[in-house]
Amino acid sequence: MENAAELSTVNTNALMPHEAELLEKARLIASESLEPNAQKVDTGIVSMKRNLDALAQEGLVGVTTPTEWGGIGASGSFQRAYTEILTSACGSTWFTLTQHLGSCGQIAGSMNSSLRERFLKEMAAGRHYVGVGFGHLRRPEPMLRAQPVHDGWVLNGVAPWVTGWPWLSGVIYGATLPDNRYLFVYVPAEESQSQISSPPLPLCAMNASATTEVRLVDHFVPESDFVRYSSHEEMARGDEGSIGAGVHPPLGCATGSLKLLQTLAEKRSNLTVIREAANALEKEIDACRIEARHWAESPKDIPEYKPNALRARVWAIELAVRAAHMSIAAASGAANSLDHPAQRRMREAMFYTLTAQTSDIMTATLQRISHLELS
Ligand SMILES: Cc1cc2nc3c(=O)[nH]c(=O)nc-3n(C[C@H](O)[C@H](O)[C@H](O)COP(=O)(O)OP(=O)(O)OC[C@H]3O[C@@H](n4cnc5c(N)ncnc54)[C@H](O)[C@@H]3O)c2cc1C
Repeated sequence: MENAAELSTVNTNALMPHEAELLEKARLIASESLEPNAQKVDTGIVSMKRNLDALAQEGLVGVTTPTEWGGIGASGSFQRAYTEILTSACGSTWFTLTQHLGSCGQIAGSMNSSLRERFLKEMAAGRHYVGVGFGHLRRPEPMLRAQPVHDGWVLNGVAPWVTGWPWLSGVIYGATLPDNRYLFVYVPAEESQSQISSPPLPLCAMNASATTEVRLVDHFVPESDFVRYSSHEEMARGDEGSIGAGVHPPLGCATGSLKLLQTLAEKRSNLTVIREAANALEKEIDACRIEARHWAESPKDIPEYKPNALRARVWAIELAVRAAHMSIAAASGAANSLDHPAQRRMREAMFYTLTAQTSDIMTATLQRISHLELS
């Protein structure tokens, strides 16, 4: 998944003792390093790679890798909490890491054991980062095509978004086959005449993620780098099943704004409305999380699932924007400085509106914020 808050399917609310310890370490790294440096990372003064290194040092890059391959095979509860810790501190770090966490999960689950043997331990240790390029498969027209040849495939077209390119050792591309099935393959992230990346795209939010567009021209991929087949229907089912899991990045972002609001309530203690707003926000974040969890855990084949899961997802999206706006109002003019966390979170909240967007999410978002009835 190019953007997942929950990548394994171990679905329990209880954390194992070693997971609780690891989350404490993640909280410490987030509060001592990620959060204080987030504006500098956002504006390119400090490289985001050092955040990835700090997380890797504590085993926090291998959370979606099974233990036999050097990871911790973390539960869904762990991954949800971990996502919120990272997104409350530094959205760019979470967004870049989540591509890799998705790739670890895909390689761990692949029928191709050669990929696991060659890369997975190094991936779990943070010495071999693998990004993804398959969000374009949700678009109506194919952008990247795969032609089967004798001992592999030839790729042609464009992957419009590949996050983290400068740090990547490999990319998992999704391409459309002549029979319209989808092919996922591992490709070493090496510039060549057949794999050409653009300079990092100038972005309003997550600029530090060094997202590029990659063009593939007659790029040969051997059978040994096969990851999996998929289809439009399977991808749509996956998107539908994970509508609820997608609330955690915006909820983490809203929690970051809440912390700022609480700090401002202390500083401007005569303005009691700031404390009142923070208390209301805290309650709403909790309520949204509970609602999303309920639908994420409910059967997916009942008619109530999809409209309610979408309602929870777009509630989280709108809440992240509103929470950032609240912290901007409470911070006054200072919030407009590029050094201020409130404006960064406003941009990150905007980003959670569109990442991993499907037409259902787009529709539900517009219905909510334009006050149209949800269908
Ligand atoms: C900064 C950034 C980094 C990213 N990094 C990665 C990455 O590393 N790897 C990756 O795979 N992806 C990545 N993405 C892609 C991302 O997850 C989403 O796929 C993307 O944000 C949705 O934007 P899009 O331009 O693809 O939208 P669109 O092409 O507009 O599609 C959004 C949704 O709307 C639907 N839609 C579009 N037009 C129509 C229409 N006319 N009628 C009906 N439905 C329609 C599409 O089918 C799709 O479901 C990144 C995106 C951004 C912005």
